[in-house]
Amino acid sequence: MNLEKSAAAFTRAKKFMPGGVNSPVRSYGSVGGTPPFIASAKGSRIFDIDGNEYIDYVGSWGPMILGHAHEKVVSALQSAVERGTSYGAPTELETNLAELVQKFYPSIEVIRMVNSGTEATMSAIRVARGFTHRDKIVKFIGCYHGHSDSLLVNAGSGAATFGEPSSPGVTVGTARDTIALPYNDTAAVEKVFAECGEQIAAVIVEPIAGNMGLVLPKNNFLQNLRDVTRKFGALLIFDEVMCGFRNNVQADFKITPDLTCLGKVIGGGLPCAAYGGRADIMRNVSPDGRIYQAGTLSGNPLAMTAGIATLEIILSTSNFTENLTAKTSKLVDGLKKILGASVQIPQAGSMFSIFFSAKPVENFEDAAAADQNKFKRWFKNMLERGIYLAPSQFETLFMSAAHTDEDISKTLAAAERSWLNG
Ligand SMILES: *Cc1c(COP(=O)(O)O)cnc(C)c1O
Repeated sequence: MNLEKSAAAFTRAKKFMPGGVNSPVRSYGSVGGTPPFIASAKGSRIFDIDGNEYIDYVGSWGPMILGHAHEKVVSALQSAVERGTSYGAPTELETNLAELVQKFYPSIEVIRMVNSGTEATMSAIRVARGFTHRDKIVKFIGCYHGHSDSLLVNAGSGAATFGEPSSPGVTVGTARDTIALPYNDTAAVEKVFAECGEQIAAVIVEPIAGNMGLVLPKNNFLQNLRDVTRKFGALLIFDEVMCGFRNNVQADFKITPDLTCLGKVIGGGLPCAAYGGRADIMRNVSPDGRIYQAGTLSGNPLAMTAGIATLEIILSTSNFTENLTAKTSKLVDGLKKILGASVQIPQAGSMFSIFFSAKPVENFEDAAAADQNKFKRWFKNMLERGIYLAPSQFETLFMSAAHTDEDISKTLAAAERSWLNG
């Protein structure tokens, strides 16, 4: 595969930006080599500036649930852009999106739109602290909630790849208020609450963890979080920035968190995220209440438009989620047959990931023990064959509605050859 132009673009980019990128994993640090520089994308395919075509399972790290450049999203955006790109004033679009979100998430009685998942979780934590008048928060090792200081402690995703669980620049004082526990470890949660439960403002969790690769919650892990937080007057925050709209966690597990964070799919590929939940909590956010949070571009009309178009298509397509999940299962089952028992391929809805580990992965320790060298070879072999995967084992892969049976067959054929050459 020729990546000559991408290599030149990468060299040029590195002159101006750390690692040549604006978000760390994009620079291929953990797999090496040149990241393809992207020229365009359509449906399930992504095209680089060297003219290579790939079947894309990154989907912009989750948002592109309909595939790239969906006709209806594009035309909605085209007419929106003619009306101006930002007003800094209320629009009906914001209420329309809020109303749509509530159809997916009845627990979100009151919502606030922001611009990134990082902002959503950071703000939800502030609200939890302001509401409970407590300082400490509990998070889980390998869960990534964006890069705000108090959540950048034992974080997953790019932070995991770079082996830098807590970043320089996060003060000791900030980190001290964050308690990081192993995912799926109910006993550890109970122990911490027994020790200092009345100082804990909130537990924040990815109810389906996608930032250490995909790790599913064990039996009563989430229910126990609900029980223990309620008992001690702490809030339960579900960070569904990644798993939201691809899974129906709150209904499936019959658990209602106090606050939910959304991102990725909610913006249909434009910068948008949100946090919300119980009205009695959210009414403390300014200007109704004294907990401050604001944003120049929050509720941006283009982002609202893309989000609305995306959610409307999901809602109006019969069995959208079931079909997307079934399509994902078809690929996952095929991969399992090819890769065998020495590889774990967990799936949740249209999310899946590949761990080169013979042992099921239940937490960050298991994920970190997976074979990085095997992953690296597999990743390169797949890329060579036109399959665009996330360049790290600590990331989740995404299926879109635009992926076809032919895409799946091609991916499986590439997997077979990549595995033999591994
Ligand atoms: C991506 C992600 C975030 C951060 O969202 P950004 O838009 O990248 O700031 C937060 N939480 C989870 C679970 C995520 O997957």
